[in-house]
Amino acid sequence: MELKIGCIPGDGIGPEIVAETRRVLDAVAAKFGHVIHYTDILMGGASIDVHGVPLTQEAIAAAKAADAVLMGAIGGDASTSPWYQLPPNRRPEAGLLAIRKALNLFANLRPAILYAELKGACPLKEEISAAGFDMMIMRELTGGLYFGERKTTEANGIKTAVDTLVYNENEIRRIAVKGFEIAMKRHKKVTSVDKANVLDSSRLWRIVVEDVAKDYPEVTLEHMLVDNCAMQLVRDPAQFDVILTENMFGDILSDEASMVTGSIGMLASASLNDTKFGLYEPSHGSAPDIAGKDTANPIATVLSAAMMLRYSFDLDEEADAVEHAVKQVLKEGYRTLDIMSTGCVQVGCRQMGDLLAERI
Ligand code: NAD
Repeated sequence: MELKIGCIPGDGIGPEIVAETRRVLDAVAAKFGHVIHYTDILMGGASIDVHGVPLTQEAIAAAKAADAVLMGAIGGDASTSPWYQLPPNRRPEAGLLAIRKALNLFANLRPAILYAELKGACPLKEEISAAGFDMMIMRELTGGLYFGERKTTEANGIKTAVDTLVYNENEIRRIAVKGFEIAMKRHKKVTSVDKANVLDSSRLWRIVVEDVAKDYPEVTLEHMLVDNCAMQLVRDPAQFDVILTENMFGDILSDEASMVTGSIGMLASASLNDTKFGLYEPSHGSAPDIAGKDTANPIATVLSAAMMLRYSFDLDEEADAVEHAVKQVLKEGYRTLDIMSTGCVQVGCRQMGDLLAERI
């Protein structure tokens, strides 16, 4: 198979972690007989340095021409980098928002996995973490409260602020379909999270999700109120497979789920549109504090690339091989600095890339 991958190394540790991820992807291509065509795309501070803006029309066109995009991270240290002297719409982060919009990425996926070897980093009690967990938070990314009308008015000296939470059934349906499709590739369970005891938008959410579920008879659907879900994530995270939810609930729950894994350098993510196209990136930022020191953990980016193989290219066996390589390297006791613990062997970003590529 020919894979056209757009690569946005970005800033800070971005170029280091993307370089190692490409080596892992190259090992996959060599083993499984694929050909990968990479196109480098400038975004963020790297684009500002060359073009004066964080994202050019050419960069958007290059991303659109690819089957999928792999991104490192963008941004610098806001207190020292000259990029932050620019007006907000020309700073590195503006590129990220612009590319998500240009590519119509409405579905955000964030897996939260507790690896047996990293259980020590989990802040939950041992009797809870012992069961492990492997869940996927599926968050609607372009609607809801963050995109509804908002205004602040003042009458009789009293200020009033209004934000509106709007979803139409088409917006709910397209994310629900993605959620069930993803569940079919996993353990076939969807927990749809809402606040249907209070909100009309949640009641519509529930009706549409139930309707979509009819097309996926193999998938078990349950509904959960968002307040209960926040509790269940720390009480019994092992119960979840796919959590399907709207924008703001997903924003909060995905951060909570990430934190119970305890390891920022291990967290992958993907943003998808209604084709097979996706933008794959680690959940963490560009870590300017450790850039160029060869200490960054490339695993979150490598696992994002595994998601790319699975969801954009339907290469499940290849994705399994990458995820297996990660587990193998952890089992053998290799750790980057961020996940280092006693008795393990500390390696740099580059050596972690070597080890992962070898294990493919
Ligand atoms: P950050 O995620 O970059 O770093 C937080 C801490 O985690 C730092 O101590 C860092 O060294 C560590 N860390 C992060 N990733 C790591 C990895 N792979 N290996 C080892 N350690 C790692 O968050 P921040 O410091 O708040 O932000 C830094 C820059 O990143 C800012 O400019 C911010 O705007 C940007 N940012 C970009 C994205 C993105 O590109 N999607 C996301 C978040 C933040």
